[in-house]
Amino acid sequence: MAPPPLVARSHHGLHVPAANIHLDARSAPGTVFVSHAHSDHCTWAPRIICTRETAALHAKRKRAREAVTLDFHAPFRCGDATIELLPAGHTLGSAMALIRSADGTLVYTGDYKLRDNPFSPPAAIPRCDVLVMECTFGSPLYRFPPDEELLARLFRFIDETLAMGRTPIVLAYSLGKGQEALYHLTRRGYDVLVKEPTAGLCDLHVELGYGFPGPGTWERFESDLLPGRVVLATPGWKKDPAADIPRARTVQLTGWGCNPRARYMYGHCDLVLPISDHADFDDLVRTAVESGASTIYTVHGSPVFAAHLRSMGLNAEHLAAHPNKPEDAGRTSRPVTTPLAAAQYSLELA
Ligand SMILES: [Zn+2]
Repeated sequence: MAPPPLVARSHHGLHVPAANIHLDARSAPGTVFVSHAHSDHCTWAPRIICTRETAALHAKRKRAREAVTLDFHAPFRCGDATIELLPAGHTLGSAMALIRSADGTLVYTGDYKLRDNPFSPPAAIPRCDVLVMECTFGSPLYRFPPDEELLARLFRFIDETLAMGRTPIVLAYSLGKGQEALYHLTRRGYDVLVKEPTAGLCDLHVELGYGFPGPGTWERFESDLLPGRVVLATPGWKKDPAADIPRARTVQLTGWGCNPRARYMYGHCDLVLPISDHADFDDLVRTAVESGASTIYTVHGSPVFAAHLRSMGLNAEHLAAHPNKPEDAGRTSRPVTTPLAAAQYSLELA
C-alpha cells in the first residue's frame, strides 16, 4: 500500500494528513497554519498555528482566536508530525512551514522572498522531499533589479518632487510593503504622513517591538501637514490619489511594474517601481532547484511556471491559483501526469 501523501487537498484547501492541519485555508475545521496575515491567507478556522507576530496581525484583521504561536526554528509536535516555522521574508511574522513525518519532509513556502526585509530574519531555501511553493512572479518578465538600485530611484523621484515644491505620494499595500517603504523612507530622513489602514498596522508593528528608524519621522496623514512631507498610502486609496492633493506626483511600488503593460495598468502613476515582497522569477527557480524536492507543487500564480520547471527536468505541477479558497481547492489546472502525483491524487480523491 502506498504511503499517505505528504500534502493532499480537501474541500477546504491544502491539508497535511500527518499533522492534520490545513495550510492557509480560508476556513477549515480544526487547525490551520497561517503563513502570514495578508487577508487572502487569513482564516476563520477555530485554531491557528503561526508566529507571535502573525497572530497579532491576524487578530486585528479577523478577530482573536486560539493560536499556537511558535518561534522560528522551534519544532512543535503536531499529530504524527513536527512542524517548524522558517522565516519567509515576506511580511512581519511571515513563515514557511517545514513539516517532518515518517513519510518525509514537506515545505510550504506561503508567500516569500529571499531578498532582505527589515522586519524578517533572512529567508533561506529549505531542503525537503515535497515543496509547495508560491509562484506569483513565475515568468521571466519578472526579474527585479537590485533593491539598492530601486531604492535609489525611489529617493531620486522623491527628491525631485520635493524640489519642485510638490508632494510625493508613495503607494504600497497596507501590510508588509507599506512598512518596508516607511522603514526606508524614515531611515533616509524623510518625514512621512501615513494614511489608514497602513498607519494602524505601523502602530501594531511598533507595539510588537518593530519600530521605524530615524532621522525621519512619521505620523498619521493630515492635509495641513503636507508641505515638505512624503505621503504613504495604499493603491486602493483612490483611483487618482493626486486628485486630493494638489501638485502631487505618485509612485507605486509593485512587482507588476516589470510587466511591459505596467504603464497602462498604472497609468495614473508618474512612476512604477518593481519593489516587491515576493520572490522574483530567478529566486523562484533557485528555490525549486536548491530545495532538492522530488515533487514540487506550485500555487498562487500561473501554470506556466510549473511547466518551466518541468522543462528543466523537475517534477512539478501547478495545483491552483488560490488553493486556500474552497471554490479553488478541488481544481487542478492540468492533467496529473507524474506517477508520484497520480498516486497522491488517487488517495486525495478517495
Ligand atoms: Zn502575502
